[in-house]
Amino acid sequence: MAELHLMTVAELSEVLHAGSVSSVELTRTFLERIERHARTLNAFISVDGEGALAQAAAADERLRAGDAGPLVGVPIAHKDIFCTRGQRTTCGSRMLANFTAPYDATVVERLRRAGVVTLGKTNMDEFAMGSSNETSFFGPVRNPWDATRVPGGSSGGSAAAVAARLAPAATGTDTGGSIRQPAALCGVTGIKPTYGRVSRYGMIAFASSLDQGGVLGISAEDAALLLMAMAGFDERDSTSVELPVPDYAATLEQPLKGLKIGLLREFFAGLDPAIEQLMRTALGVLHAQGAVVREVSLPHLPLSVPTYYVVAPAECSSNLARYDGVRYGYRCEDPRDLTDLYQRSRGEGFGPEVKRRIMIGTYVLSAGYYDAYYLKAQQVRALIASDFERAFHEVDVVIGPTTPTPAFALGAKTEDPVTMYLNDIYTIGANLAGLPAMSLPCGFLEELPVGLQIIGPHFAEARLLNIAHRYQCETDWHLRVPQGFG
Ligand code: GLN
Repeated sequence: MAELHLMTVAELSEVLHAGSVSSVELTRTFLERIERHARTLNAFISVDGEGALAQAAAADERLRAGDAGPLVGVPIAHKDIFCTRGQRTTCGSRMLANFTAPYDATVVERLRRAGVVTLGKTNMDEFAMGSSNETSFFGPVRNPWDATRVPGGSSGGSAAAVAARLAPAATGTDTGGSIRQPAALCGVTGIKPTYGRVSRYGMIAFASSLDQGGVLGISAEDAALLLMAMAGFDERDSTSVELPVPDYAATLEQPLKGLKIGLLREFFAGLDPAIEQLMRTALGVLHAQGAVVREVSLPHLPLSVPTYYVVAPAECSSNLARYDGVRYGYRCEDPRDLTDLYQRSRGEGFGPEVKRRIMIGTYVLSAGYYDAYYLKAQQVRALIASDFERAFHEVDVVIGPTTPTPAFALGAKTEDPVTMYLNDIYTIGANLAGLPAMSLPCGFLEELPVGLQIIGPHFAEARLLNIAHRYQCETDWHLRVPQGFG
């Protein structure tokens, strides 16, 4: 038997059901690893060992009673943006550093019902604003492949935890790339589903028309198993879609013969030739299985970063207005009056990136500028969405890199927000159009992992997972473990 911490969720499910290991034993293994690497990686904000072991014991009961659910007893981690009942939920912010959630997010509740054990809550950029995990109030996360580099963000804690095998899988959220970009930089597999596929109830809001929950794991098969348990209609989220959840695991093996892949011209213009070479090699693997590749163009895609950086701050400025120091969250000491209470609570509770977004958002929504910025951005957003729609008349999926570079050094981009924002140049389009997208490991550049991105039409999750799985049957990039964590 392979070492427990190196197993995929699918493999763990097998050994748990076979009775060769108990959930308590497994949970203990991961808790020990989390503790051992806590200081170097800073991937977790909180760990509830006692709670996890109690859940594991309950899962063992279910297993003994013959409960057939594939996830019963499998431990995972949650991004600290998901409310977990009775547990601290900070969203990476001082504003919520002492907030204990009174209820479970739908994602958490569904996974609990499926029998998963929650190991703890992973570190993240403050309110999910960032691409490097450096905006967290709880300090940066380090990339397990090179501790001097960032893990990506905002789900950097989840990505680092999976890469270092501190958890076999973890939840994440993706507003502009926050599942795919850290997945790419840490060499793990991540999926952002179609907008509306996974309930946002209990997932702390950043930009509500873009936010979508998903999962990071070792393999596409694991992502399929977890997504199936998380997804589905939820009457508590008005944007959740009333469509049945397909059995994503059942179609993983489907042959790729005849699959039409679009190579995104805009993604390859100016791309680092070494990354382009890795993309072409990956396409070769799919081509060998019968997929056909042709070039497609999305002319408005280069506008996605400026569009996103109007829409997302606008929505964040509205969503974050609720943190006023009155109802919950951080409150300043000894306020002089109500204005002082608001000003200092928000001034002290939020970090610089969050403040920058709130200011931009308030500006673009203000009476004199609404038409010039916000309305214009919404119009461009519609053009980007229709570009994708047109492309999907010609091809089944589009493929390109997830990020322009592998993991960059800590501190390299913190002084210049625009260079930081440009790291999401390839991921944001899918959010603006509400499309499902994945990132999977496809090789290394100077010993750092590189991600391949697949974007599909609305609700094509099964197809994306199928392509990723077939790719992973032929390659082993996703099974590589950083030195010191094997
Ligand atoms: N990096 C992007 C931002 O800072 C996306 C973040 C996300 O997807 N949550 O807004």
